[in-house]
Amino acid sequence: MFRHDSPEEAAFRSAARTWLEANLPMALRGRTNRPPPAELMPWYRTLSGKGWIAPHWPKEYGGMGATLNEQIIMAEELARVGAPQLPAQGLNHIGPILIEFGTAAQKAKHLPPIIAGEVIWAQGYSEPGAGSDLASLATRATLAGDRFTVQGQKIWTTWGHHSHWMFALVRTDPRAEPRHAGISFLLLDLHSPGVTIRPIRTIAGDDEFSEVFFDNVAVPAENLVGKLNDGWRIANALLGHERLGTSNPQFALIALERIKTMARATGVLADPGFRDRLAAASIGVTALLALFNHAVELTNLQRSLGPDASIIKIYGTELLQSLNDLLLEAAGSDAAMANPVATNFGEVDVSTPFLQVRRATIYGGSSEIQRNIVARRVLNLPQ
Ligand SMILES: Cc1cc2nc3c(=O)[nH]c(=O)nc-3n(C[C@H](O)[C@H](O)[C@H](O)COP(=O)(O)OP(=O)(O)OC[C@H]3O[C@@H](n4cnc5c(N)ncnc54)[C@H](O)[C@@H]3O)c2cc1C
Repeated sequence: MFRHDSPEEAAFRSAARTWLEANLPMALRGRTNRPPPAELMPWYRTLSGKGWIAPHWPKEYGGMGATLNEQIIMAEELARVGAPQLPAQGLNHIGPILIEFGTAAQKAKHLPPIIAGEVIWAQGYSEPGAGSDLASLATRATLAGDRFTVQGQKIWTTWGHHSHWMFALVRTDPRAEPRHAGISFLLLDLHSPGVTIRPIRTIAGDDEFSEVFFDNVAVPAENLVGKLNDGWRIANALLGHERLGTSNPQFALIALERIKTMARATGVLADPGFRDRLAAASIGVTALLALFNHAVELTNLQRSLGPDASIIKIYGTELLQSLNDLLLEAAGSDAAMANPVATNFGEVDVSTPFLQVRRATIYGGSSEIQRNIVARRVLNLPQ
């Protein structure tokens, strides 16, 4: 890596490596799909029992209170052992948001079950008519007395059909101008009467997300996060966390290892042209590690990431796509196989990760939208 560990960090890395090697079940290593909850959540709870499930959360809320370098070491060691992707909406999204904006009662109720892996969260932002233009969302929440009544639909909800709760953006003032001034941030119990959830299958064959319908769903007013009609500010704070999370170098490091294994197996590693492209890809991953390091540092200093989040989202997700293009090249004609390819160095799944990373430049705000942000806020280009 581009950074040297201090003696304390080296000890932490060694302890993390030994423990992960001993405790991560073999069946969960190197998976290209996210395993279903019945397989994944026991591992989540094992990490939680060790106290390592939330390196970035403060200790008072059950996190590790890890330093920046410890967080990066943890991500690198998880990548090294081929750990699967955990559900992020609780740990990386609503958890940090409640820590920053939640009431004492909201923190007490919702943070411990996230740490314990007892409750899975979904993110309810996108709607059929509101994706990139999120401020046009139409799901209504009408406040009367001590409860909201929610009517509308969300879509592309990651793990919606596996989730117990959803944090959602809802329209609470339809007449507000500008439109985002009429949006609030609500916590919704997905087992409430009037909620219908339908899984959607992706091009890679997994049912990662779903559509969620709300038909006059009653939600206690105490589930409002922040003030009424102030949801946009909270939503934007969360998008920064999300963009950083989608570019976690863990996925790029795993992809790079997969390419090397495949290239060794097919012999393409001996081709100087391929080696040049592999070297460029390795440099790209090192650059992503440096960018991620910088972004985590800014977050740790409690500074908003701003356009840095957009730059790292574009770089990290487009790099991941180019790594998976290189994996296809390394596999040669085997790239067309739907199932993992058997090699002398173990099985390598080629087509699934290639198909899966198509989505990375769409979720969390598409590359086009991130480029618009950089154009406006960094380059000062006209709208
Ligand atoms: C795997 C996956 C998981 C997801 N999980 C969730 C989730 O858990 N919760 C959730 O709320 N959402 C989720 N999403 C939805 C995601 O946030 C949206 O897909 C994304 O914001 C884009 O919105 P859209 O799909 O409506 O596309 P649109 O906004 O309709 O965009 C279509 C195309 O037009 C381009 N475009 C749009 N506007 C502009 C512009 N102004 N300038 C230039 N180009 C533009 C876009 O870049 C895109 O290429 C997920 C999406 C995916 C793929």
